[in-house]
Amino acid sequence: MPLLELRGVTKGYVEKGKYFPVLDAIDLVVEEGEFVTIVGPSGSGKSTIIRIAAGLIPPTGGQVLYRGQPLAGPNPGAAIVFQNFALIPWLTVQENIELVLEARGLPPRQRVRTALKYIDLVGLDSFEDAYPRELSGGMKQRVGFARALAVEPELLLMDEPFSSLDILTAAGLREEFLKLWTGGKLSIRSVVLVTHNIEEAVLMSDRVVVLSARPSRIVGEVSVALPRPRDPHSSDFELIMDRLYALIVSSHIGR
Ligand code: ADP
Ligand code: MG
Repeated sequence: MPLLELRGVTKGYVEKGKYFPVLDAIDLVVEEGEFVTIVGPSGSGKSTIIRIAAGLIPPTGGQVLYRGQPLAGPNPGAAIVFQNFALIPWLTVQENIELVLEARGLPPRQRVRTALKYIDLVGLDSFEDAYPRELSGGMKQRVGFARALAVEPELLLMDEPFSSLDILTAAGLREEFLKLWTGGKLSIRSVVLVTHNIEEAVLMSDRVVVLSARPSRIVGEVSVALPRPRDPHSSDFELIMDRLYALIVSSHIGR
């Protein structure tokens, strides 16, 4: 059974009394064990898809299923890593993580233990008591990862998690995340990553889904059957990049 299923999902926003369509019938199935990346132009509704999958907002039409059950309200199996970290500035690293654990009903002692475990996992031990303003962008996103992983989700939703970081920091964090993912030590069963970086998509995922411009549809997908860790300079990698690039270009010309 798939972990997540979007069936004919549409979404629009009403602005000044007028309906503004964003998603136009999205069908997406994420199987257990899969790492799926969604690429699309900015404003195509990628963050909207992430919020719908997390159950933070309902679709306008269509169905969202989690483990075969219609989703009504926040998805208890999912956690999100945000582009802009979304840390609470007046809370320490430890407190930022404990807050989400409290929201999920963990008792105090377990919150402390779990928060420390995930702070260690992302390489931030000794920064428990630091405030977000004292951290670099890369370290802030480490907190973002720790906070998402700490709730031990089955589905990890990542909304351009590396886009605000400099190139080297982003590369380092991608590599570390892939090690955790392939190492099989995480609770995560499946990942949905949103990005507009096609090299990142091919580097990380099993399958890349391409969105058109708004109102967006899925125009096609490319599977990436390469062993990890992947070499972006290999000819196999480049071939898949070319295929993905061609799909993106053709989807623009077709409109
Ligand atoms: P992406 O993440 O692909 O850049 P988004 O999902 O953030 O796209 O947004 C898609 C479109 O929907 C954008 O044009 C954005 O302005 C609009 N939008 C997003 N959220 C809202 C909202 N709460 N109210 C009105 N319009 C919104
Ligand atoms: Mg977005």
